[in-house]
Amino acid sequence: MTPGRSILRGSVQYLKGVGPRRAERFAKLDVYTGRDLLYHLPYRYEDATTVDAISELKVGRDATVIGRVVSKGVIPTRRRLRVFRAVIRDVSGHIECAWPGRPWLDRTIHKGDLLLASGPVRFYHGRQLQPREYTVLARTSDEGDASGDGTAAGSPRWGERPAEGSAASGARPAAGRVFPVYPATEGLTHRQIRAVIHLNLPRLLSDLGDEDPIPGGWRKELSLPPLAEALRTLHRPSAVAQVERCRRRLAFEELFFLQLLHARARARLRHEVRGIVFNAPATLTRSLLRALPFRLTTAQRRVWSEIAADMARPAPMNRLLQGDVGSGKTVVAALAMLKAIEAGHQAAIMAPTELLAEQHRRTFEKLLDPLGVEPVLLTGSVTGKARRRVVERIAAGDARLIVGTHALIQEGVDFASPGLVVIDEQHRFGVEQRRRLRESGEAPDALVMSATPIPRSLALVLYGDLDLSIIDELPPGRRPVRTAVRGPESRDAAFDFLGDQLAAGRQAYVIYPLVEESEALEARAATVMFERLQARFPDVAVRLLHGRLSSAEKDDAMRSFLAGDTSLLVATTVIEVGIDVPNATVMIIEDAERFGLAQLHQLRGRVGRGAEQSYCIVFHASETPSERLVAFEKKTDGFELAEEDLRIRGQGDLFGKEQHGTALPRFAQLDRDIDLLEAARRRARAIVDADPGLSKPAHRRFRHELDLRYARREALYRVG
Ligand code: ADP
Ligand code: MG
Repeated sequence: MTPGRSILRGSVQYLKGVGPRRAERFAKLDVYTGRDLLYHLPYRYEDATTVDAISELKVGRDATVIGRVVSKGVIPTRRRLRVFRAVIRDVSGHIECAWPGRPWLDRTIHKGDLLLASGPVRFYHGRQLQPREYTVLARTSDEGDASGDGTAAGSPRWGERPAEGSAASGARPAAGRVFPVYPATEGLTHRQIRAVIHLNLPRLLSDLGDEDPIPGGWRKELSLPPLAEALRTLHRPSAVAQVERCRRRLAFEELFFLQLLHARARARLRHEVRGIVFNAPATLTRSLLRALPFRLTTAQRRVWSEIAADMARPAPMNRLLQGDVGSGKTVVAALAMLKAIEAGHQAAIMAPTELLAEQHRRTFEKLLDPLGVEPVLLTGSVTGKARRRVVERIAAGDARLIVGTHALIQEGVDFASPGLVVIDEQHRFGVEQRRRLRESGEAPDALVMSATPIPRSLALVLYGDLDLSIIDELPPGRRPVRTAVRGPESRDAAFDFLGDQLAAGRQAYVIYPLVEESEALEARAATVMFERLQARFPDVAVRLLHGRLSSAEKDDAMRSFLAGDTSLLVATTVIEVGIDVPNATVMIIEDAERFGLAQLHQLRGRVGRGAEQSYCIVFHASETPSERLVAFEKKTDGFELAEEDLRIRGQGDLFGKEQHGTALPRFAQLDRDIDLLEAARRRARAIVDADPGLSKPAHRRFRHELDLRYARREALYRVG
């Protein structure tokens, strides 16, 4: 180690007990420097303060025990399953622990070890504990290396439990009876990591000193401990109860710097490009409000005023409008478009498909007819002379409200004076398209609409560079869709019910899930069903829609359903997200486990759009419905379902591979830390608004810390 150089910044290689070979393995855990090691925190703790006395264990209950291994061995059973067993003893008695199918533990757990084990107590020739979790707390002869053990590979985050118990031993931490469990990797066990941290913690902490990227005043307000205290406690808590407050300290730090990064991206856009100040008298917008046959809901009024205020500012608007299906986003979008138009600019709305674009055109026609604003359509099927005329009108500026698809951002389409671009169903558009739109023309305002509710916390992390408006209220008088989750035995009754609805003149969907492995398989399943339903309802017009059809055939089936010529549509999920058929009252979903909650909710949103009561019947193939389906049956609010989804799946899953562009929080738990997230965002934005370059003396440390974090974890904004 270079003398005088901070061990925090130096390579982890030079720390006690590491060396070049282990340093390579630490690199797999993203630990490169001393500071990284300090931030390599346990993801859970074994709490030995709540152990049970062995003599008091009851069959059928879960228990946690600590005892010495008095005998052990691998016993083959008649079923050729090899079972590792160890008898452990505490002051009150002894019990056999058994690990079926895990004979290799014989090399990890030794006679004389002090073992912590927890799991269910079963009856098998007497009481037997079958540990789900176990840890070697201490070893009499402590040179045996517990490598090759069941320590979880990879780096689990907070609260995620590894599938296997972690076989770890090592010196008992002096701080008490709470044992940290660290993320480990191949060739570097949890126990070795614990030992390395144990050896180096005092020096690392003394090097850190009072250094703290979070100002003391903020910590006080949020009741968070200083950094050094948080790190010390997380590595060596004397009670599990101390952990949460310290975890929140690191969660805040992490969220704050992530929000600072977002805020800077947002500021860059705002400073580099000048936007339009829309502040003309409210002629058209006021007329529309007067002409509407209903009053805006409170939520609609709130988001409309957010949008209007944003449009009146000189910086270009870059806003995400979220609202459940049917919450009335279209009216809000229309108001925003009129605001651009009344200021003498053009407004465009871009839909993901032609069908949806045409639907928008019809909606806007009806809505805006009394105002004398005529929507102009530009999609891929507008061709030849018609297209030339539309393109000319757009270029000349006399087309003021333009509805279209991707065709709007194609070469050769030039707007005379683009003021606002509304992007519908945002999740179908990539980051790249968003950027391209921003670059087209001068700097039009952008309003991105999404009908896929995601929890606010997730939105702030994923789309932190956008401003957020949420319509969290449905117009009054809506009848919620009645939802039933049923097993296969109810199929007949469900189709009888479907028949009644069809006979009453209603329309319906039967949905087959996409079969990822094979489009052919999926098409076949849907086709079989289609034929069966046709035979069952000979007088009903049934159509089939799946991914193997040509786009002309798909289009034709969809249009026929829209027009009411088809009553029953048997489809795979190629049916479109925003499609609006008020006469459709039944949605039947087959094999529903294959859908995510958001998808199910989207599908259910296809019905319940008219005056009649609507129904959604969901079939599960398994014996009992999953937790997800149970939630789906109980809740109809999209935001509540999204929160539930976050809880059931965990944030790791929600941040799946396709959700690039943002770093995963390591310490923050989005369903729990929303207060911290809001506080972090507020502060980050205030700082960047006042000092975009972070160049004021008080802010330099933030910039420094941002750089540190970038360097440490490659780039927080990793794309692709
Ligand atoms: P979204 O696009 O959010 O799914 P829409 O804008 O299509 O929802 O609105 C759904 C329906 O609700 C439309 O028929 C619309 O006219 C109607 N609607 C919108 N706002 C209100 C309101 N405040 N009161 C009553 N009906 C409304
Ligand atoms: Mg819509």
